[in-house]
Amino acid sequence: MLLVLSGPSGAGKDTVIDRLRELEPGLAYSVSVTTRAPRPGEIDGVQYRFTNRDEFSKLAAGGFFLETREYAGNLYGTPRGFVEEALCRCEDLILKPEVNGARAVKRLFPQAVLVFLTVPSESDLASRLAQRQADDQKDIDARLSIARQEEEALPEFDYRIVNGDLESAVRDLRAILTAERLKVGRLLGRSGLG
Ligand code: 5GP
Repeated sequence: MLLVLSGPSGAGKDTVIDRLRELEPGLAYSVSVTTRAPRPGEIDGVQYRFTNRDEFSKLAAGGFFLETREYAGNLYGTPRGFVEEALCRCEDLILKPEVNGARAVKRLFPQAVLVFLTVPSESDLASRLAQRQADDQKDIDARLSIARQEEEALPEFDYRIVNGDLESAVRDLRAILTAERLKVGRLLGRSGLG
């Protein structure tokens, strides 16, 4: 299963995914490539593979990415190989692209399950972005403005989770994972009976 967790930057996608993967160690996670500078504490190859625009463009030209996107002045891309190999092995996989990336993944893999992670209010998002102490005010404003547009994409998603409390957001996402795994169509497809 391809689970796509999208929604505004600052809604807590990384934290929710980290926590879910502790509970579901079999869930594969695709590490994206970005030209954004690492934030304090971020490790190359863990949160992202960090690179420069030149290398990113070369990788893109060589067909390395499933999808790429420019977001708030930086490039982000999902490596194609990792996703395709995980799906070939019938592994469950989670990605966390912004909304346009989620749309691109859905076009390529119509069976993908799209989950929109948001926060209770715009002021919550503003304070989360500020608390992160990772981006300057200009970058925070850009992210808030993108977030307003992203909310409009909600009808394209299968599920919406409001991250007011981490544990309940993780519980909701895990419930989605469980329900999707139990879908009859998926079970028949997997066993080869369908
Ligand atoms: P951040 O700079 O806050 O880590 O990420 C900015 C936005 O880009 C977030 O919404 C994040 O989920 C998204 N993002 C991260 N990796 C990818 C990717 O590979 N593709 C796309 N389209 N978006 C990504």
